[in-house]
Amino acid sequence: MFTERRTKLIETMTAEADHPAAIFVSAREATRNSDVNYEFRQESSFYYLTGFDEPDSVALIRPGTEAPFVMFVRPHDPEMAIWVGPRVGIEGAVENYGADKAYPIEAIEEHLTELLSETETLYYPLGADEELDALILKQMTLRRQNAQRGPRALGDLRDPDPLIGEMRLRKSENEIASLTQAAVVTGQGFERAMRTTRSGLHEYEVQAAMESEFRRLGSRRNGYPSIVASAHDSCILHYTTNRKELVDGDLLLIDAGAEWEYYTADVTRTWPVNGQFTPEQRTIYDVVLRAQHAGIAAAQPNHRFDEIHEASVRVLVEGLTDLKILKGNIEQLIENDSYRPFYMHSTSHWLGMDVHDVGRYRNGEDSINLESGMCLTVEPGLYLDPKNENIPEAYRGIGIRIEDDILITLDGNKNLSSHIPSTPEEIEAIVGHLER
Ligand code: MG
Ligand code: ZN
Repeated sequence: MFTERRTKLIETMTAEADHPAAIFVSAREATRNSDVNYEFRQESSFYYLTGFDEPDSVALIRPGTEAPFVMFVRPHDPEMAIWVGPRVGIEGAVENYGADKAYPIEAIEEHLTELLSETETLYYPLGADEELDALILKQMTLRRQNAQRGPRALGDLRDPDPLIGEMRLRKSENEIASLTQAAVVTGQGFERAMRTTRSGLHEYEVQAAMESEFRRLGSRRNGYPSIVASAHDSCILHYTTNRKELVDGDLLLIDAGAEWEYYTADVTRTWPVNGQFTPEQRTIYDVVLRAQHAGIAAAQPNHRFDEIHEASVRVLVEGLTDLKILKGNIEQLIENDSYRPFYMHSTSHWLGMDVHDVGRYRNGEDSINLESGMCLTVEPGLYLDPKNENIPEAYRGIGIRIEDDILITLDGNKNLSSHIPSTPEEIEAIVGHLER
């Protein structure tokens, strides 16, 4: 799988540039406090190309050379192995990760000049890593100074992100399997959260119920910090405090995703703490759900990405007009972005190894067309500011978002998270019902 990806990358680089090479940098360990590090997670593109899970590593891709895939890694260290377990090491990088050559990361400077001696175009994301930035600039300077007598200059520095972005945008069977499993696990957690919910519990208790299910099913970590927002805080898009007590009559919004093999789900559901929507909550919920269905229906191959947002916005604006929260002509209201105070984010983003995954959304001005293998969210919402006096009082403070993970297929799409309750009937039937 990783070999195929590197082969594909090499083909593209060779087609695009003369004597190209590319450098990818792993994530680094980051200090949390004192001698404790943050939990390590590999940088997504680095993992995508190497499958290598350790920090302080560099991958060098050199098409058309005797060693097209070179790795710099932390060498095996018997002393450290006692404390943190064995590392893959130099031999392991060759034997188990397919490197044609591997060197200790400490020796990168002494090998880089030789390894890049034929390179004229270098794909490297300048700014990604201060130490490596300095090394690369030094290489470029050396080569410029010697260009008159020696090899050609290393003069063409390009960003590798668009290359990898194009590849990561279209998911393979393997990736789709991981995204599917991430959605399955996430669904189990949401179901547990819904069943657990009752007034008097705290947001974090529902979060714990959900995330314990993620972990129990083998998900190593979440794709992003869970948003568990009750009452007015459901209007705060990235609320992650998650400390309040749940109050009878309020809504609870959860936006969360379990990661599976480096791929994350990204799902939002909103449900009543006591298991029954009030008429006002139900009215808003129905508008958002209709907007979501319209958005999903618009997620079709050979259609523009933007059609999803346009379809959802239209339903939201119609709903807001019916409720007299917006007044005027639908087309005009859409044109003027009049819905922005109530719906301030876009409806979709790519989904994959990163929750907001890489890949372009437009070609110049134009929205790109959807293709089978692309995966995205459809997540309309309405957020009725508790302090906005233009909103009828009964609706103030209601915040609702419904988010599913949609895979574009050859003939339409597949909702990977459709098993998670989302109709009011499904939700009212499950919330607070702990017995299975
Ligand atoms: Mg989300
Ligand atoms: Zn999302």
